[in-house]
Amino acid sequence: MSACILWHGAVNGDGYGTIAPSRRVKLLAHVEAFKAVHGVRPPVVMHTCDNPRCVNPDHLVAGTQALNMQDMARKGRAARLRGVTNGRAKLTEKSVIRIRMCRGALSCNKLAALYDVDRSTITDIWKRKSWKHLGSGPSLLARQQSPLFSAG
Ligand SMILES: [Zn+2]
Repeated sequence: MSACILWHGAVNGDGYGTIAPSRRVKLLAHVEAFKAVHGVRPPVVMHTCDNPRCVNPDHLVAGTQALNMQDMARKGRAARLRGVTNGRAKLTEKSVIRIRMCRGALSCNKLAALYDVDRSTITDIWKRKSWKHLGSGPSLLARQQSPLFSAG
């Protein structure tokens, strides 16, 4: 692996290099370095070298959606998001229905692994903390065309 390129400008409280193009705007140096190379600014840019001041593009990777979701959940923002309309949801309405119907048949861990989401995502669906707008029961069964559930 190539050597770290350390940011010599300002750093924030977490040790990340920051760029302040104006009084109101503060950008993370490593995120901007990633964008300069890849042309996109992902919601999360992580260091493979664990060096928050490093801006070597070779050491930067876009965070996964799952990590980002965990991050959002940690910050309490996930609760405000609802369904697929927010554009960030990984699950479709169909998969949520399946997850509800698999309750009891498959463990929380298994479903979380299956859909590549956090365990809390599954339990929230089960407890109807999320995807409340989706119904359940016979009406859902009737709507489901999936052969997985048509056998009864
Ligand atoms: Zn580095």
